[in-house]
Amino acid sequence: MSSDPNCIFCKIVAGQIPCWKLYEDEAVFSFLDIGPLSEGHCLIIPRKHYETIDQMGGEEVAACARLIPRLSRAVRQATGAAGWNVLQNNGPFSGQAVPHVHFHIIPRRQDDGLGYRWPAGKLDKQTAERLMDQITQRL
Ligand code: 5GP
Ligand code: ZN
Repeated sequence: MSSDPNCIFCKIVAGQIPCWKLYEDEAVFSFLDIGPLSEGHCLIIPRKHYETIDQMGGEEVAACARLIPRLSRAVRQATGAAGWNVLQNNGPFSGQAVPHVHFHIIPRRQDDGLGYRWPAGKLDKQTAERLMDQITQRL
């Protein structure tokens, strides 16, 4: 399915819902996030509808990823951000609210209050070996 009539981002790509557009080409669309976590928060999406990134071909992901450095530079210069997060959520348990693949660019500043939760565990040998086998067999 290249477009989902019920998808809000497909409607944005089709011009049926307005957005503050930053960039578009034949494969990719970018616009300001309507609910920004910080000033300059924006999204890069494929024009075609895919719910999660594993459904996409590598070239289609690459078309989105190619824009990341260029857009990052522009957002950084425009906002004076000290850093930024590139975030891509897949599935509701990851925090994905809109089921059309998107990459967030979220400008960050010192003490911006957004925080960063990263409760790191510890990787033991047995788990690492099991995972390495299970994942590499499927690549
Ligand atoms: P997710 O939680 O799915 O990774 O992020 C979805 C993002 O899309 C949110 O940051 C939300 O603010 C943004 N968003 C949802 N609906 C709209 C919309 O209609 N227009 C724009 N510009 N952004 C939207
Ligand atoms: Zn869509």
